[in-house]
Amino acid sequence: MKLLRFDGGRIGVLHEGSIYDVTEAAGGDPKRWPPVDMVRLIANFEDRAAAIRAAVECGRPIDPDKAALETPVPWPNKLIAIPVNYLAHAEEMRSPAISRHAGFFMLANSSLSGPSEPIVLPDLPGRSIHHEAELAIIIGRTGRHVSREDALSHIFGYACSLDITVRGKQERAIRKSYDSFTPVGPWITTADEVGDPHALDLKLWVNGEMRQEANTRNMILDIPEIIAMCSAVMTLEPGDVILSGTPEGVGPIGDGDTVRIEIPGVGAMEVGVVQGEGGSNVAIPKTVMEGA
Ligand code: MN
Repeated sequence: MKLLRFDGGRIGVLHEGSIYDVTEAAGGDPKRWPPVDMVRLIANFEDRAAAIRAAVECGRPIDPDKAALETPVPWPNKLIAIPVNYLAHAEEMRSPAISRHAGFFMLANSSLSGPSEPIVLPDLPGRSIHHEAELAIIIGRTGRHVSREDALSHIFGYACSLDITVRGKQERAIRKSYDSFTPVGPWITTADEVGDPHALDLKLWVNGEMRQEANTRNMILDIPEIIAMCSAVMTLEPGDVILSGTPEGVGPIGDGDTVRIEIPGVGAMEVGVVQGEGGSNVAIPKTVMEGA
């Protein structure tokens, strides 16, 4: 199943090229704050799945081009990211901080955004702001100290994600947590439809030019190891989002660019880039050049 959010927190299913509104069958209430309907749905998915399928069968198809798609899980308990999880990316960044040694880090949940929202660049002239294409893992059930053997059973599904990054020496949490810096979408494809998550092509284009092309088989830490590692430290909850790291080919984005990510079998999304205002601060001053 391909589960999505659209038009102000409604829950939908993409089926045969159309969106079906399953908000009611999913127990959703778009007016509810905080927006945790998708987290609740993931936690109770087995109980809700039959009603959702029925709602698709008798629902009215909506043209996806006429819907504003939002990030599927806007309010997860955790947004986790894996640094440098492909060797060729470690080489291009000359980075010793590969995932096997560095582990993982946290991003602000508020950096999440959806396919219909632009990436808004902070006003930091002279700093490189890069795209990173990543496979996002969506956790399906609560787990602590999850073994490698059990890890895949804790996964609800997968999505495309971008880990937009101001390059520099400051903490990753600052450089990667600007609002809109973590587009995830366009929907969650449930794990049963994805098959082997270590055999997925991952591609990214900027303005139609391919910049990143890799396969998830080349991850340094595979997905069971990522889940074992994270859950050794903290309880993973339904709806938690883990960005599994980017391959080689990262590069700058700027005002007016269009970034497209595609993971066949999972999804594809295209987001615009716009120049915003503000964003400099005591750690990332506007006037300091990259590398300073
Ligand atoms: Mn990344």
